Amino acid sequence: MMDDDIPQEELTEVLCPVCNEKLYYIQMMTDIAFERQILIQTYFCKKCLYKKNQVVQMNRGEPLRESLLIRNMDDLRTIIYRSPETRIYIPEIDAEISPGETSSGEVTTVEGVITRTWERMFSAMEGFDGTEEEYERAKRKMETIISWNFFPFTLIMEDPSGTSRIQSSRAIIEKIDQEEI
Ligand SMILES: [Zn+2]
Repeated sequence: MMDDDIPQEELTEVLCPVCNEKLYYIQMMTDIAFERQILIQTYFCKKCLYKKNQVVQMNRGEPLRESLLIRNMDDLRTIIYRSPETRIYIPEIDAEISPGETSSGEVTTVEGVITRTWERMFSAMEGFDGTEEEYERAKRKMETIISWNFFPFTLIMEDPSGTSRIQSSRAIIEKIDQEEI
């Protein structure tokens, strides 16, 4: 289904991980920014309301770096599409999120990305290449950010596939070489 038809739901043989009912499936093409298309696939359960979204990118572009200065609480609600290959940095606290273990992209917000970074930093030292002292310092800064009164800070996304998007007119987009990533 590649056109703009109204999405139709289908009953699948996939079982709900929560209540074991058969899940319904729906898919939807959508445009992110101007030239990119993504496919949002949703599985959902009518019994317990379980829902799982998967985002598939439909076309590749040039490697891009996008950054946005997060000034206040409103900026935290900025919508982001993060492709599976995107690396995210917050330079003010030396935090980095490597491309995820999952192969699907996600539509999230700045707040969602930061919350996930925070969870990852606490779940493991994995992905943090520094000393324990540097880790402790980063952790303290991360705690400051998660208390949502540490402004401004910069969110940077580097994406070899060029499909990620920060949905803000203030976002700065630059082309980068593959080797820089
Ligand atoms: Zn269910």
